[in-house]
This record gives sequence, C-alpha cells and structure tokens, in this order.
Amino acid sequence: MISPARSWREFPQRYRLEAARCEGCEKVLYPPRVVCPDCGGCTFETTPLPREGKVVTFTVVRVPPAGYTEQSPLPIALVELTNGVKVMMQVGDLADPEELEIGMPVRLEFRRVAWDGEAGLIFYGHKAVKG
Ligand SMILES: [Zn+2]
Repeated sequence: MISPARSWREFPQRYRLEAARCEGCEKVLYPPRVVCPDCGGCTFETTPLPREGKVVTFTVVRVPPAGYTEQSPLPIALVELTNGVKVMMQVGDLADPEELEIGMPVRLEFRRVAWDGEAGLIFYGHKAVKG
C-alpha cells in the first residue's frame, strides 16, 4: 500500500513534475537529490520537467500490486523526456498494451494512478499517453 505520509512527502515532484538542476554542473535530477551524483554539488534550483518524451523501454505487469488492480495488465514505461531526464511511469489510454513500442512519442498527463479501497484514498500522478 502507498502510505498517505509518503504520498504527501512526494507531493511537489509527483504533482508538479519538478526536477532539480545542479548549480555546479547543470545536471537535471529527477527525483531531486541532496547531493549531485556527478559533481558532488549540493545547491540546486527547481526546474519544471518537459511534458513530452519518448518510450525508451517498457514492461507490462501481468499481476499488478494492490491499489493498481483495476488496470490489468498494467503497462509501465521508461520515458526519456526532451531534456534527457528518464522517468518510469504508467502508460494510460492504450486499448491494448501490445500497442506500446520503443521510440513511441508520449506526453505526460495528470491522471488517477492508484487507489486504496479500504482507506478510500485515491492517488493522482502523471501517466504517459500516446503523444
Ligand atoms: Zn552537479
């Protein structure tokens, strides 16, 4: 299950697609980190992520985890955004997961991604849809 506390902590990144740009070497990190893995710098500025990208690789989860069972099978793609940042996310709006292919252009949309039926919680985030 996704805990409400964890979901809240990730709110800025998950909802606004914010990344951190290292002031030392310009590397864009998503999700943001405390220390830049490239130059060891620890000063960053917030930068929005682009909404367009393409599928680098993907997988189709046949037995989704709890909270995701409304969609089965569940397509998950590694999307490379136009600035080179790679983000793993669900893919929505596919009539058939077999439609997914490497290099497919996608755009990011704000959708319901999971829910916890027992607690009545619904989680929103970004999904990739055919661009
Ligand atoms: Zn850096």
